[in-house]
Amino acid sequence: MGVAALVPLAALDGQRTAVAFATPATSGAVQVVLARQGAARLIRSEQSAPDVDWKDSIALGTPNGGRLVDGVRLPARGVGFYTYDPAHGVVPNAPWRRYGTDALVREMLDLGAWWDATQPGGPRLGIGDLSLPEGGPFSGPGVGHQSHQNGLDVDIRLPRRAAVEGRANPGNYDRELTQALTDRLVAQGASLVLIGPGLDLHGPSGVVVRWPNHDDHLHARFPDRDAGR
Ligand SMILES: [Zn+2]
Repeated sequence: MGVAALVPLAALDGQRTAVAFATPATSGAVQVVLARQGAARLIRSEQSAPDVDWKDSIALGTPNGGRLVDGVRLPARGVGFYTYDPAHGVVPNAPWRRYGTDALVREMLDLGAWWDATQPGGPRLGIGDLSLPEGGPFSGPGVGHQSHQNGLDVDIRLPRRAAVEGRANPGNYDRELTQALTDRLVAQGASLVLIGPGLDLHGPSGVVVRWPNHDDHLHARFPDRDAGR
């Protein structure tokens, strides 16, 4: 059966994401062909976080001077992850610190699912600040950010040795797991991963970058997939 025989079955998430196609199978069953690999990830994400209020978010401006329109809030916890408030060191993170584009939230749900699959029963990933509900300068009490302004940035704690959840440092982080996390972020399409000067990590030049004040977390940025639309 050729591609021309495929007919759209369902638009899973509006015009910008995956569309599933069906072909009538001889048995009468419906053979579903995913239009692209992303569709499978999308389905997993939405099953693992049914309480997400999905919107078609817009990242305006730049991470260091921008805003977020129709941001999506990352759940306080989900498969493979918890959130933490870096200003007060408590779990979970405050709701107003957990807004990103729908694409970024999906990336975090996918990251959690990957972590859970590779570390079954182990400690969860700690996800910190994303952006404010409407983006803009992130200057909350305690911890602020120069970037994190348009829903594309997220901070993630370094995994620790001895299967402990909590704040890490260059003396107690698990180098192997943190490298695997860095590699995964790059594989998922992160355009930037900031790592602290005291960490023994590596990655593609220009993507994995050493930066001060990042010895207890990774800062990941994902590209705006709608840019130029
Ligand atoms: Zn950050």
